[in-house]
Amino acid sequence: MQHPSFTSCYDLVGVGIGPFNMSLAALLSPLTHVNSLFFDQKQRFIWHDGMLLPESQLQVSFLKDLVTLVDPTNPYSFLAFLAKKKRLYQFLNAHFTHIYRAEFSQYLDWVSQALPNLQFGEKVEAIEFVDDTFRVHTDKRRVAGKNIVLGSGIAPHIPAWAAGKTGQNLYHNHEFMHRSQQWHNKRVAVVGGGQSSAEIIQSILADSANLPQTLHWISRRNQFLPMDDSPFVNELFIPSYSQHFYDLPHGLRQRKLKEQKLASDGISMSLLQNIYQRLYKLKLVDGLPLDIRLLPEHEVKQLQQTDTGYTINCHNLSLSHQRNIEVDIVILCTGYQAMVPNYLSQLAPNLIWEGQDFKVNKDYSIVWQGPPGNRIYVQNAAKHSHGIADPNLSLMAWRSAVIINSLLGEQIYDTAQENSVLDWQAIYPLHQPTEELLCDE
Ligand SMILES: Cc1cc2nc3c(=O)[nH]c(=O)nc-3n(C[C@H](O)[C@H](O)[C@H](O)COP(=O)(O)OP(=O)(O)OC[C@H]3O[C@@H](n4cnc5c(N)ncnc54)[C@H](O)[C@@H]3O)c2cc1C
Repeated sequence: MQHPSFTSCYDLVGVGIGPFNMSLAALLSPLTHVNSLFFDQKQRFIWHDGMLLPESQLQVSFLKDLVTLVDPTNPYSFLAFLAKKKRLYQFLNAHFTHIYRAEFSQYLDWVSQALPNLQFGEKVEAIEFVDDTFRVHTDKRRVAGKNIVLGSGIAPHIPAWAAGKTGQNLYHNHEFMHRSQQWHNKRVAVVGGGQSSAEIIQSILADSANLPQTLHWISRRNQFLPMDDSPFVNELFIPSYSQHFYDLPHGLRQRKLKEQKLASDGISMSLLQNIYQRLYKLKLVDGLPLDIRLLPEHEVKQLQQTDTGYTINCHNLSLSHQRNIEVDIVILCTGYQAMVPNYLSQLAPNLIWEGQDFKVNKDYSIVWQGPPGNRIYVQNAAKHSHGIADPNLSLMAWRSAVIINSLLGEQIYDTAQENSVLDWQAIYPLHQPTEELLCDE
């Protein structure tokens, strides 16, 4: 159906071209009868450019690419990229346990240039629903879509004590590569105990001629803890667990997510070893007079701007002591959070919410008050309902396949999955009084 005031009517219009919507576009590519268009405000693809540190590595297998785990024959796999770039043999000979994130970004950029239905340099400003059609307004045009998919990512989290104070020397880690890397004679604090903080510590310590005067690494966690990448824990990152998790009661799901945090938000073991070894080398082998304080079990409570920099007020969580730290630069590695994008403001009153989150169906469509034939799919906003793997690359291809099957109302991709080695049915029996027994609601 062509709307007179709109240039086209698509089966699916996508907002954002991060890996998740790009995976969807790649798996849609063989389906020539499906008419889709995806927008991104960036001029071209680059993967979290502010955190594309030279040494950063992917935290998952490269086989968890856009398509392979659903359709290894799709032309947009990571292996296809290696073959196209004539580096397959060298890749094998290099014996990577984990590949560089820079290379994965190159792969994604290569796919982004090959797919015809990706439009960069256009920001989606508003979406309305009129006459059984979504009307998507970008800063350059308007298009109509029967269905939409939201893939605009999650937002940096700025803690309350830093709100309104960010600037050149106090910033969230997503801007790291765009800021000065001159640490010499500077007093630096890195706040946070996850992977990003560790990557930044590694980067700050990399050049002996550019070491800071003081370096504080402050984390609420009781240690600088590794990501649990062990085989049984990785069963949380397979489709059958996600499907099982979806059917659990809300309170139990929330509790499980808290318990499982280190399966996704810990630091890669190799990176922890690298930092430890670097500290050993700098202090004990090179004998440099370093002033580096590693402060787990410390929570930042306040931050004040001074004439020369900042005073950070920290709370020692085990002893209830307070401590003030004087610094010039504060890097906030304080995570990311879901947000309701501005472009949704007109649709938001018609969406059904679970607290702050969208209520999401098993097929990743948001429950809403509009016609069931018009769906609003969502990527990277269903951790509360679909499990810990939601923001991660692990289930990206499978989730795209689930969305495509739902969109077309038929089994285009085989999403029936291998069983887990763990007996989730026995651990959390469904259709039984789990709610009363296990749920803390
Ligand atoms: C530094 C970093 C490293 C990570 N490394 C790993 C890893 O190793 N392994 C793993 O499994 N996961 C990793 N993740 C988690 C996850 O895989 C990534 O965050 C992934 O990029 C999420 O993809 P996405 O498509 O949801 O969002 P994003 O990649 O954030 O993309 C969203 C896109 O939407 C666009 N956009 C936003 N608003 C609009 C609008 N109004 N109009 C048009 N476009 C818009 C943005 O420009 C952006 O390009 C990492 C995350 C970060 C932050």
